[in-house]
Amino acid sequence: MKVDFLDELTINTASEMLLGGKITSIELTEAYLDFIESKDKEINAFVTVDRDGAIKQACEADKRIASGKRLGKLDGVPIAIKDNMSQEGVRTTASSKILENYIAPYDATVVSKLKVAGAVILGKTNMDEFAMGSSTETSYFGVTKNPWDLERVPGGSSGGSAAAVAADMCVASLGSDTGGSIRQPAAFCGVVGFKPTYGAVSRYGLLAMASSLDQIGPFAKNVEDAEILFEAIVGHDKMDSTSCDFKYEKLEAKKDLKGIKIGIPKEFFESGLEDNVRKSVENAIGEMKKAGAVISEVSLPHTPYALATYYVIMPAEVSSNLGRFDGIRYGLSVQGKDLLDGYLKTRAEGFGSEVKRRIMLGTYVLSAGYYDAYYKKAQKVRTLVKKDYDEVFKKVDVLVTPVTPTLPFKIGEKASDPLAMYLSDVMTVPINIAGVPALVMPCGIVDKLPVGLQIIGKPFEENKIFQIAGVCEKLIS
Ligand code: GLN
Repeated sequence: MKVDFLDELTINTASEMLLGGKITSIELTEAYLDFIESKDKEINAFVTVDRDGAIKQACEADKRIASGKRLGKLDGVPIAIKDNMSQEGVRTTASSKILENYIAPYDATVVSKLKVAGAVILGKTNMDEFAMGSSTETSYFGVTKNPWDLERVPGGSSGGSAAAVAADMCVASLGSDTGGSIRQPAAFCGVVGFKPTYGAVSRYGLLAMASSLDQIGPFAKNVEDAEILFEAIVGHDKMDSTSCDFKYEKLEAKKDLKGIKIGIPKEFFESGLEDNVRKSVENAIGEMKKAGAVISEVSLPHTPYALATYYVIMPAEVSSNLGRFDGIRYGLSVQGKDLLDGYLKTRAEGFGSEVKRRIMLGTYVLSAGYYDAYYKKAQKVRTLVKKDYDEVFKKVDVLVTPVTPTLPFKIGEKASDPLAMYLSDVMTVPINIAGVPALVMPCGIVDKLPVGLQIIGKPFEENKIFQIAGVCEKLIS
């Protein structure tokens, strides 16, 4: 069967076709695998394509569907996952040389949940090394190209997951977000991306970057698909002590935004925001107002300190989390003349320069003489940032902001300037610092490039975000 409609498929349409017998999961999976084989030469969204594993899972899905035992909407639907999520028997590299040949011995909780839902996992997507970056340029496996313009970055660190959805190489995908790594690439690639409340989704089996900030979430072609994927992975897990006992309840779709209180935090619209991005976001806010939303300007006064806070807390956790890559337990192992020399050689050879920079920075801010001045201070400021959100959510239902100050930038443009790269996270990082959920969706096209909109909600009120985003999608796309 010739499948020439991959660009039209969503989780909903694919699952209806599978259920109605119009296509089998094997046919669909093979169509995706063949398309990846040709298209990914240009995009480089995948580090590993698991052809055999995907076909096996598709075959099982077909048997279930044929015998009336379909597991749900994801059964037989091909998706992709970021290469920092462990999948049993499959290479899991975090796009680092140090894990180039590492085969995960167990499934991350999100992966087992996807398997329980019947999803077909096509492969592992490219990312910045250990999720450190905003452009996917720090990957050991080469940069991923933005499908909208091959000279531009897809964003990062989950650039492969975003580009794979945007280029129709999978129906949907999973990414991880520590400081914006789902939301910024979603904006740059013109897809929907969602970062759940910290604790909503288990981190067990996710290769840790900064454990107090990391969350896994979906990329999809529309809001409804993102919610379906989120529902499949949400929930308490005894293997992750920070995961919460939270039962997700989907809300009914709304026709308009009557009575919804939307706050516009003024700090997100100050200097540094490109005019064309501002215009698209303001236009979207105008549409929300016409649909009945009550719009008001609000203030999150500690926003200007969030980025600096993040770039102290995150490296501190990175330096501790990445201590386990010592050449003995995982991955690359370079022999030295003694134990210490072996550690040094393995880490010198195995890690890229951005990872080394953050390990050094993190070790520094945690060291005895500087702990109080940097790490402890950053933790105090973190509380202030969080309190801003607690306060503002007493007055409004959601906040609406831009996602990034600029349009997708050119490959190489910021690669040698870490500070410029870090500044592209200025509108996503505060949300991780506060631990609240946020969804990103397309809100316009400027110079043939997509612009994203960020909807931020109260902790564990992801259902309200999806409900509001569902209305916005009809208004602005
Ligand atoms: N771009 C941010 C950073 O470099 C965020 C990364 C992430 O969310 N994993 O740290």
